Amino acid sequence: MARRQARRVTGHGKYPSGSELSLRSSMPSDPSRLSKSRYLSGLQCHKQLWWRVHEPEAPELSPTPGQQNLFAQGREVGERARGHVPGGELIDLPFYEYDNKVTATREALQRNLPAIYEAWFLADETYAGVDILERTSRGHTVIEVKASNSRKPEHLPDAAVQVHVLRRAGLQVERAEVMHLNRECRFPDLSNLFVREDVTALVEAALIGVPDELAAQQRMLDGPLPDVPIGEHCTNPYECPFIERCWPKLPDHHVSKLYRIERKQALELEADGYATIYDIPSDLELSVIHARQVKAVQSGRMVVEPTLTKALVPFASPLAFLDFETVSLAIPRWPGCRPWQQLPVQFSVHMEERGGGLAHHQWIADGPEDPRPALAEALVEACTGARRVVAYHASFERECIRRLREGVPRLAKELERIEKRLVDLLPVIRRHVYHPDFGGGFSIKKTLPALVPGLSYLDLKVQDGEMATVELQRLMLQGAEMPAGERAALRGNLLRYCERDTWAMVKLLEKLRSLVADQLELF
Ligand code: SF4
Repeated sequence: MARRQARRVTGHGKYPSGSELSLRSSMPSDPSRLSKSRYLSGLQCHKQLWWRVHEPEAPELSPTPGQQNLFAQGREVGERARGHVPGGELIDLPFYEYDNKVTATREALQRNLPAIYEAWFLADETYAGVDILERTSRGHTVIEVKASNSRKPEHLPDAAVQVHVLRRAGLQVERAEVMHLNRECRFPDLSNLFVREDVTALVEAALIGVPDELAAQQRMLDGPLPDVPIGEHCTNPYECPFIERCWPKLPDHHVSKLYRIERKQALELEADGYATIYDIPSDLELSVIHARQVKAVQSGRMVVEPTLTKALVPFASPLAFLDFETVSLAIPRWPGCRPWQQLPVQFSVHMEERGGGLAHHQWIADGPEDPRPALAEALVEACTGARRVVAYHASFERECIRRLREGVPRLAKELERIEKRLVDLLPVIRRHVYHPDFGGGFSIKKTLPALVPGLSYLDLKVQDGEMATVELQRLMLQGAEMPAGERAALRGNLLRYCERDTWAMVKLLEKLRSLVADQLELF
């Protein structure tokens, strides 16, 4: 299941362009000098910056496959953006050659070019790389390219430190822009792929604190590890990679594990002396789901509501169990698609057959062409005869089917019929069952091993949606260049992962039905 990824990566909202690969590799090796990346880390937390600089090989700094994928897509966006400010020259040197890049930029400036891509400057012991430096009639415009669909508050300090360094290096900077992707753009017309937003006034305001902060960071880096208390800044604006080092390990069933509890509420419970769910008194007013969770944890037994029987009525055979996997491309490739549109490119269906038994159907895109027509046809065929189509967190499958309807209008009616037959297994569990091993969540990764012991994702090469998305993209866009064996293995790993999702639903429903049968026996 490739649900929309909410997690933000520690790449300062910008996916590195040019030769940068990750925040770690985009930093200078000289610990006494700052860089734009270092400055932004330090703005979030001095302790984080100290570790980044003094422990550059820390395992926490290795990018995940998902982050690497974002960086790679960001690089593509950065390269594409140059075409929208044409006539420039690229400072094309390895990322670690900071001083050579500064020298090459200085020489390029002498040539009065309309633009310089990946221009580098050094001032105040701080390096700043500029995605696009555009020459204007009276000076220069700093253009910060972002692979996001909108401008974000955290983009401003990024632009501000660049303007500061460039001005201190003697350049006349007249204007600052954030150039981000345009959510209104639709393939194949990519002429409006980018939006250029003038942020000069905002950057001028943000410049005020830059010199003092740079000085403070430099002093801090010359000293020992600073003492910084944990707090909101650990996840805002980015999730810090060192959370496990700084945050205390929580006991099992800590109150913060109450389903979707707000941080503030958990802190209040802790302050009232209820550190874990075991401590919560029976007279405390709780939501229905929390009350069930508390009851299950305190008793050490699964709680099953009598209402489960009724909740399972809509799951009328013959059932099809459906799951999609998706990709999300920064630069759209297929008709009607916008930047970062999440699109289904793989499905698995387990279909109940007359007289019992299950048939398995699957489809996977393994080339760069538009997957929607063939996938939609295979899906319609796979779901033929199903009275209900079971999904887990069905809003995701609904959204995928809607994207398919847009992309394959000739099958819109058939796809709509599938959409109308969707029934969701997740809320059935959430509203009627709690097992102490759910750990405060109802994702299939939590509920499956608790309800169906022995069945999980641990034996698979692809074990989660993030990895599936990355690998699907690799199969589709780079599969042709892979050795046949590697490509077949990758395809097989992805097929097994998606199949496990629908098989998990089959077994979960079986388990829920057996819980109902057990209840009936008791009465
Ligand atoms: S976890 Fe919080 S306090 Fe620790 S380094 Fe990260 S941001 Fe700083």
